[in-house]
Amino acid sequence: MKWQLNNIKFPIYNLGPGKRIGIWVQGCSLACTGCINKTLWSEKGGDSLDVLEVYNNMALMADDFDGITISGGEPFEQYEQLIAFLHLIKLKTRLHIYCFTGYDLSELEELYPDQLYMKYIDQIMTGRFEQDKWSEDNLRGSSNQKLYNFQNGRAELLLNPDTSNNWSIFIGDDQQIHMSAIPKNNELKQIEADLKQHNINKKFI
Ligand code: SF4
Repeated sequence: MKWQLNNIKFPIYNLGPGKRIGIWVQGCSLACTGCINKTLWSEKGGDSLDVLEVYNNMALMADDFDGITISGGEPFEQYEQLIAFLHLIKLKTRLHIYCFTGYDLSELEELYPDQLYMKYIDQIMTGRFEQDKWSEDNLRGSSNQKLYNFQNGRAELLLNPDTSNNWSIFIGDDQQIHMSAIPKNNELKQIEADLKQHNINKKFI
């Protein structure tokens, strides 16, 4: 089964607790105004990877990591692939699963009545990015987004999640700059200024 992914990065130390592997899924139809991940909207970008192959590679590294974070793009728009991957990971490893989605919990309940996502995901950040509701932390894009724990088939709203971990940026083998986490508005400008000091002219849009 093919899974359209934009990126896999590790290690990351934000977007969930501990040392993690980050997966960015390709494709999102929700089109939030002000989205900083517009290159991930098209379902045709990124790479088409076999779910089993992605799982096998991660299973080999599992002992060195605490968890996997799945972001996007919109992970739930490739639901079959997401569930197949998570089923294998939860069956064979002890990795903690953290997922970001633009859907609200009530929408997920309606769209995916099997509720298998609740069985495999440990923590989930839900809700559209709303540009006029800037968040003061690096975990939420906007303050309306809600974090839940899934346990024993129930969703528990986390009112005071740990949001202390900041963003991190990497320069990949492809010479592209990649970023994990959600910088605050002024932090993007700071990153641009720091890069400029090293003669790297990069504008984040
Ligand atoms: S759900 Fe996320 S990736 Fe999709 S448009 Fe909204 S902010 Fe962008």
